[in-house]
Amino acid sequence: ANLDMQSLIEEIVQETQLIAPNHQIFLTKNDSAIIYADSASIKQMLRIFIENSIKYTPIGGTIRIASHQVDTYLHITIQDTGIGIPKEEQSKVFDRFYRVDASRSKLTGGAGLGLSIAQCIAQQHDIEIHLTSILSEGTTITLQFPLPSKKQ
Ligand code: ATP
Repeated sequence: ANLDMQSLIEEIVQETQLIAPNHQIFLTKNDSAIIYADSASIKQMLRIFIENSIKYTPIGGTIRIASHQVDTYLHITIQDTGIGIPKEEQSKVFDRFYRVDASRSKLTGGAGLGLSIAQCIAQQHDIEIHLTSILSEGTTITLQFPLPSKKQ
């Protein structure tokens, strides 16, 4: 079905601000875009990334969400000022049940499944995931959604 990404992101950001009152959550840009996808799956995927950004960012930290069109893609970025992921673990966090050491001992529970589910959903929709992270500084996730071409 056609999915209005601008409204979806607006809705998720508002929900997130309610559930995470101790973090600063900003929507810095929100381009309008319609993609062809199942809204429940896309919502679940975005929630996984945003919930992680809150879970792994100390209270008072900042989460910036932005959505902007770049050529024939919609780029959604979720940037946090959290604990970060060590370089050598960055390729493993999408594996099922994988959790970075620092997270295992933390109060934040979790099975290590969220990102593997998110990756599955992304693959089904041809969405590319890019992760950049600096230990103790934060993590940025960029999701590249292909936009339907206007020709055809
Ligand atoms: P759950 O099954 O509840 O999602 P989880 O959060 O541990 O548990 P994933 O979402 O798969 O599982 O994440 C895997 C690991 O990647 C986390 O345990 C954490 O170590 C690391 N991680 C994920 N997102 C971030 C982030 N934004 N900042 C720092 N570490 C992160």
